[in-house]
Amino acid sequence: MDTKRPISPAAEEILGGYFPVLDHGFVSLVDYMGTDEDVERAARVSYGYGTRKTSQTRGLIRYLRRHHHTTPSEMVELKFHCVMPIFVARQFIRHRTASVNELSGRYSLMPLLFYRPDAQQFELQSRSNRQGREGEAPAHVYEEAVRRWEALRIEAGGAYQWMLEQDVARELARIDLPLSMYTQWYWKTDLHNLLHFLTLRVDPRAQWEIQQYARVMAGMMKRVAPLTYDAWIDYNLCARSFTRAERDALARLVEASGENVRARAGASLGKAELSALGLSGRELAELVEKLQPPERPDFELDLSRMRSAEDVGKEMSEAVPGAKFE
Ligand SMILES: Cc1cc2nc3c(=O)[nH]c(=O)nc-3n(C[C@H](O)[C@H](O)[C@H](O)COP(=O)(O)OP(=O)(O)OC[C@H]3O[C@@H](n4cnc5c(N)ncnc54)[C@H](O)[C@@H]3O)c2cc1C
Repeated sequence: MDTKRPISPAAEEILGGYFPVLDHGFVSLVDYMGTDEDVERAARVSYGYGTRKTSQTRGLIRYLRRHHHTTPSEMVELKFHCVMPIFVARQFIRHRTASVNELSGRYSLMPLLFYRPDAQQFELQSRSNRQGREGEAPAHVYEEAVRRWEALRIEAGGAYQWMLEQDVARELARIDLPLSMYTQWYWKTDLHNLLHFLTLRVDPRAQWEIQQYARVMAGMMKRVAPLTYDAWIDYNLCARSFTRAERDALARLVEASGENVRARAGASLGKAELSALGLSGRELAELVEKLQPPERPDFELDLSRMRSAEDVGKEMSEAVPGAKFE
């Protein structure tokens, strides 16, 4: 049956397909409502009828994003099925604007799937960022960590299975299952809030594991609303805002008038001058970071990795302890 709804052929191609993330996780774009066309339609309501020219769609979407006119992008919605470790889910859930429906461990049997970081991801505590990691850990530490993880998981999974065998309520049998265990949910949000989520979670300062989910979801969003995706990269993700002190500093270095922007001859600012303008040492480091030329990220999906819902469902049900308890 033909649909009268706006659809995106690139999104249709991946709809309901599952993309692997980490060792046992997945993300699927289950459904979407609207495309760039709907962002434009909503915006045209506020700008009046008879103003539409197809060639202006891209310009309009970029203008809206540049000027924080965000409500038109709330008219588009995306629904994902995510399978992720519980510690990643705890970071997702902080994004309060999404609607979530999670697998119930009170009702269902939890698949005994646990996340095991690769050796490359097993890094030491960062000295510069208390929330980060840096520098590969020694091989023997990784080997011992894997041994301890395995022992804990066998113990926790075994206790869970034993309690189910004793007919203990599922809501109690699950209480000592670890954060590394995979949970899953439907996660629905609108395009505006998705872009906010993605901006925070593809960022290198977010935990590497949630970055992997956000990168796949960015690739999916690109297929739903490619013009919005481009505008997001240019005006949000690769953009930075300047403080009052930073603008003062830049104005001393660069002259802008009419249609020209030029460097002021011989101008430069040292630490003392920047400090006199009000920049602390930390702000100065942040300014230096902001002034680096941005790298344009690529969130293209690898279609060769897409799997079917049946295939993934089978993998999950095979990991549920003892089918006889079903
Ligand atoms: C790198 C990183 C590190 C973090 N570290 C920590 C941490 O150590 N501890 C911790 O607890 N959290 C941490 N967080 C979570 C963070 O504080 C936010 O809760 C999370 O990023 C969700 O952002 P949000 O509130 O903007 O998103 P959403 O909840 O999706 O909200 C979107 C926007 O809606 C508005 N909004 C939503 N709810 C309200 C409300 N109740 N009142 C007013 N406005 C609202 C705000 O404008 C908000 O920006 C971290 C996040 C990141 C990215």
